[in-house]
Amino acid sequence: TDRAFVAGNWKMNGSLSDIDTFSNALTARAADISCGLAVCVPFVYVARLAERLKGSDIATGGQDVATEIEPGAFTGEVSGTMLADCGATFTVVGHSERRAMYGETDDIVVAKTRAAIACGIQPIVCVGETLEEREADTVETVLKRQLGAVLDGCSDEELGRIVLAYEPVWAIGTGRSATPEQAQEIHAFLRSQIAERSDTLSRSLSIVYGGSVKPDNAEAIFAGDDVDGALVGGASLKADSFADIARAMP
Ligand code: 13P
Repeated sequence: TDRAFVAGNWKMNGSLSDIDTFSNALTARAADISCGLAVCVPFVYVARLAERLKGSDIATGGQDVATEIEPGAFTGEVSGTMLADCGATFTVVGHSERRAMYGETDDIVVAKTRAAIACGIQPIVCVGETLEEREADTVETVLKRQLGAVLDGCSDEELGRIVLAYEPVWAIGTGRSATPEQAQEIHAFLRSQIAERSDTLSRSLSIVYGGSVKPDNAEAIFAGDDVDGALVGGASLKADSFADIARAMP
């Protein structure tokens, strides 16, 4: 479908030489991949990756974005304008690692989402419950809150620019992915929440799954009608496994 999208999130991994090796290998393997593809790398490697992927259909992304758009005294921050200047067209926003380790609140996630869009960068907005929240049976409450903040804080036009990623925290980097049934159930729930805002939007918005997606479980996870692809961590560091996952997306 038009919604099919697979993105890699390198997290704090890689080097200039890895960028070169990876981009050569991935562009060589991209011919039979039909879904949208993006690779989100550390800020310092964005320009290099974008340059290497120029002329291919593979998009470059960052992993965060400043809430501020205008240049100014914001030491350490990187704006969407800068990301765009370096050739990025996507960025990850609100990843659970940023929420848990760097104090990102729902309000900050909304501000970053809007800032990215204002700069022409498509945000991959992450939501997901912790193991504790799942065991307490509060998954829908948590997701409603996280997604609700974005729905309330953004215009229809802005929402049309986002990709939503469902990343259950307990499945990230653990080797224990959600089952295809669990993923489909939550994706359908998220889509129904979006439909309450707009039917059109709920039909066009990509909802991708993240959390221990590997070449050997991708096809089963992608079988869910509401699962439009993946946000891949560990398995995106190698072009071979990343391409195999993307190839599994119909
Ligand atoms: P893993 O694929 O390594 O579990 O990471 C998922 C993730 O957090 C992607 O953003």
